[in-house]
Amino acid sequence: MIKAIIEPFRIKMVEPIKLTTRDEREQLIETACFNPFLLRAEDVIIDLLTDSGTSAMSSDAWAALMRGDESYAGARSWYRFRDTVQDVFGFSHVIPTHQGRAAEHILFGIMAKPGCIIPNNTHFDTTRANIEYNGAEALDLPCKEAADPGTPHPFKGNIDTEALEKLVAEQADKIPLIMVTITNNSGGGQPVSMANIREVSRIARAAGIPFYIDACRFAENAHFIKRREEGYADTAPIDIAREMFSYADGCTMSAKKDAFANIGGFLCTNDAALAHQERNILILTEGFPTYGGLAGRDLEAIAVGLHEILDEHYLDYRLLSTRYVVKHLDDAGIPVLLPAGGHAVYLDARRFLPHIEPLQYPGQALAVELYIEAGIRCVEIGTLMFGLDPHTGEEHPARQELVRLAIPRRVYTQSHMDYVIEAIILVWERRNEIRGMRIVEAPQFLRHFTARLERL
Ligand SMILES: *Cc1c(COP(=O)(O)O)cnc(C)c1O
Repeated sequence: MIKAIIEPFRIKMVEPIKLTTRDEREQLIETACFNPFLLRAEDVIIDLLTDSGTSAMSSDAWAALMRGDESYAGARSWYRFRDTVQDVFGFSHVIPTHQGRAAEHILFGIMAKPGCIIPNNTHFDTTRANIEYNGAEALDLPCKEAADPGTPHPFKGNIDTEALEKLVAEQADKIPLIMVTITNNSGGGQPVSMANIREVSRIARAAGIPFYIDACRFAENAHFIKRREEGYADTAPIDIAREMFSYADGCTMSAKKDAFANIGGFLCTNDAALAHQERNILILTEGFPTYGGLAGRDLEAIAVGLHEILDEHYLDYRLLSTRYVVKHLDDAGIPVLLPAGGHAVYLDARRFLPHIEPLQYPGQALAVELYIEAGIRCVEIGTLMFGLDPHTGEEHPARQELVRLAIPRRVYTQSHMDYVIEAIILVWERRNEIRGMRIVEAPQFLRHFTARLERL
């Protein structure tokens, strides 16, 4: 039997990549003040900044765009979108938004109040920002295994249910909802087990607290359950997805992730009174309830993408291609977050560049070197992104210094990934010459997007 895993698609349209030389990249990154966010995308050879909105749509999804019904109210495309979301997610109310954070903005605008606590396995940065903006506390309760990047565990994305149960026992009245993010993006793209989701649901229901899923990478999570959790090997990903959502009362979703769309999102709930309030805000901020922030053609593309993403052959290829990169790096002795997650590869910059202090941003230094070496763009998730303490305005080292290489869906081939592996190994071989960085100028909030830096 043939063992090679091939990309389960053919390429019928291409986008040329502009190749640059190392000298050009030295200049370009200096002009961009050593911040990859400030580069022009066309000066990047392999863009691994994010997997959000960067997927390649299928010929079916492109064809669906042409079917888009752009009627203001009650468009055909809305019904197709709503029916598909309900088929997979099962919630009674579906509210379309222009992306995931707009769904969060509406949900937390209603549910998060000063003095409230909202626990999650790990809040994504926009989720945390929307909760804190409304004066509530965003509390991360990752499982204990998540703390060590070098130890493999099949479900490192799990929430710590013991800690959650204790929190609920002591302060249930302060918790408007409990969230679980699948897969755990900020925790390394690690999956959450069905057993963990079921247990959270039990705790939430016993206390009468709504349970929401941040569903951005629900299909990858479903496939990890299929491959790693006992009892699911013969279950189709769509049925695993349906079971996951059956334990929840609602969800937020970014269609820019596991729906292959370039824009879009939605909010779901089973609570009719809450849905009514949410639609009122939707009309103020996004649009009429049958299109939200989206064009009819976007609703069509999302409806197609939600079914395509659950294809078992696609999901096998997706998880195995991420694992392929992680395995080659691990075999070369490079410190990488283990086991491989779904959507990204995370280098452990603390162990990659142990001679650089956290306050000299080893992750940023590594991201800059990957650009110079090979034109690869990726993002630091460490002390630079972590930013200043909101209470004291002081800077502290982050818990981990990671560099995330997010893999856009269906965009790069295995030879692109071989190029990435080779580039990382070349940087690893000259790691002792790499110096730390210093911030020249940075805003107070979300500083990693626009900070200007220089080399020490
Ligand atoms: C991307 C993402 C969001 C926010 O979605 P946008 O579409 O970028 O606004 C929320 N949660 C998680 C886990 C995400 O990955």
